Amino acid sequence: LSTKLDRAIKTLKGQGSISEINVAATIKEIRRALVDADVNYKVAKDVTDRIKDAAMGRDVLTAVSPGQLMVKIVYDELTQLMGGEKQDIVIKGDPAVVLLSGLQGSGKTTFAGKLASFIKKQNRTVLLVACDVYRPAAIEQLKVLGEQIGVEVYSEVENKNPVEISRNALDYAKKNNKKVVIIDTAGRLAVDEQMMREIEAVKTAIRPSETLFVVDAMTGQDAVNTAKTFNDRLNFDGVVLTKLDGDSRGGAALSIRAVVEKPIKFISTGEKMEALDLFYPDRMAQRILGMGDVISLVERAQQQFDEDEAKRINAKIRKNQFNFDDFLSQLDQIKKMGNIKDLMGMIPGMSKAMKDVEIDDDAFKPVESIIKSMTRQERANPDLINGSRKRRLAKGSGTDIQQVNALMKQFEDMRKMMRTMNKMSQTKGGMAQMA
Ligand code: GDP
Ligand code: MG
Repeated sequence: LSTKLDRAIKTLKGQGSISEINVAATIKEIRRALVDADVNYKVAKDVTDRIKDAAMGRDVLTAVSPGQLMVKIVYDELTQLMGGEKQDIVIKGDPAVVLLSGLQGSGKTTFAGKLASFIKKQNRTVLLVACDVYRPAAIEQLKVLGEQIGVEVYSEVENKNPVEISRNALDYAKKNNKKVVIIDTAGRLAVDEQMMREIEAVKTAIRPSETLFVVDAMTGQDAVNTAKTFNDRLNFDGVVLTKLDGDSRGGAALSIRAVVEKPIKFISTGEKMEALDLFYPDRMAQRILGMGDVISLVERAQQQFDEDEAKRINAKIRKNQFNFDDFLSQLDQIKKMGNIKDLMGMIPGMSKAMKDVEIDDDAFKPVESIIKSMTRQERANPDLINGSRKRRLAKGSGTDIQQVNALMKQFEDMRKMMRTMNKMSQTKGGMAQMA
């Protein structure tokens, strides 16, 4: 995860300013936004707890633009929660069998067509099997789709036994050299014992290499409960999340993955046969973030803190109170950011003066130890530091008097520069423009 942070920091370069973030308030906002995006409350709480740990543990709370960094942490956690990597379906066996399950209207039949078309495009022979024995129209629907995509559909109009039909379909596939068999089953409007027993029996009889649970993303929290029930009975291999083209906020994706611990493998974003998409956790994280408006919430919360911090620093400069404590805290922040030179320009009032200076991490070490050897009074009021105090500082920090003098001069120059800029800005209308 620390490489992720590095990446995050790289993207942060060149934007934002230095400040602190009120993590607790931000976390609360994120949690609320996730719940708004249909994420199950417990899942939202778990993920925000992890986000909090990630933020705290990495000591990023005083980083450049922590708002941006927070967004990145949230995004990473959501991606992780949805499985991290994209997961493919397993098509194995001769023929390979894919079994579809789910409630009525979830989009099974539509998905069956899309998947068949998808597999056909990979130059594999496919057979669609109509096992929805309750609605004659369902068989017809699959036949229409099959015709549309050029895939054969197996059905038995008189037979009402899905186990028999699917066994017969497998035999038919073997005889007719179909390598992949996709079985479309009957769903009910709600979870129903007979439906469950039936699909369990089909699964036992034909041993699919992939059992998929198809669910309508628009059903929000219900989608999670249904997924759980189906998984308890079927132990399915993956989830197909349909109707993401509607105003579904996608939060179901997050919850389902977290609750049933099975990967989402496909999403469906339309009724057309082309709209089958592989599921990419990172893209879904982006969708959830956007839909839930988490990004703008974080940024809005952040802006306030940025402004407060900028005001605080500017006020100190104006009153000529910029002291070694401020100096040290800014150094700490800079060091966390890695590439120091690039980031120097972000310190209020420092950009122009530091632009051409060569700096590396080690350059800060003596400076830091000298400042850390100062008493609280000396840090707050640098004018106290006279000759004998300088000698004490050199000794205490393991440096020499020249280094202490150099730091004092550097600090004095900086204060002078800030004062000058302050005077200039008063005529120009604001320090902020100078920074
Ligand atoms: P089944 O009962 O599970 O087989 O569901 P169907 O495949 O028959 O789909 C039910 C309805 O949802 C149909 O009107 C489909 O056209 C529609 N549908 C299926 N998938 C999607 C999708 O991804 N987006 C949209 N907007 N509609 C879909
Ligand atoms: Mg159907």
